[in-house]
Amino acid sequence: MKTAFFDRDGTIAEDYPDEEWAKVNTPVLMPYAIEVLQYLRVMGYQIIIITNHYLIGEGFITQTQYDAYHGKLLSLLKGADIAILDVFYCPHKRTDGCDCQKPGTGLIRQALQKYPDID
Ligand SMILES: [Zn+2]
Repeated sequence: MKTAFFDRDGTIAEDYPDEEWAKVNTPVLMPYAIEVLQYLRVMGYQIIIITNHYLIGEGFITQTQYDAYHGKLLSLLKGADIAILDVFYCPHKRTDGCDCQKPGTGLIRQALQKYPDID
């Protein structure tokens, strides 16, 4: 299975300073995000989002806020006919030393475990 891994914030949708995220309710897509994702789908790629969210672990936003924002983003993409196969995120603090926080490879390994047919 051909698969493209994408970061989320600053890649698919706008990113913000940590302390502003609690006020962000509506995703704003980055220029050409739709076009790039649609092109990859046409080329036969599955799309997986991998994203660091220490904002949750460090208390900048709640899990509920993350879920609400993220649901809206996926709806926006779905409205543009872009199916996202899955999303893997790291909710840990930057000081937790987990292996899923990028640039660690834990999120990719989680994806490979769940979808062993990824090339
Ligand atoms: Zn983590």
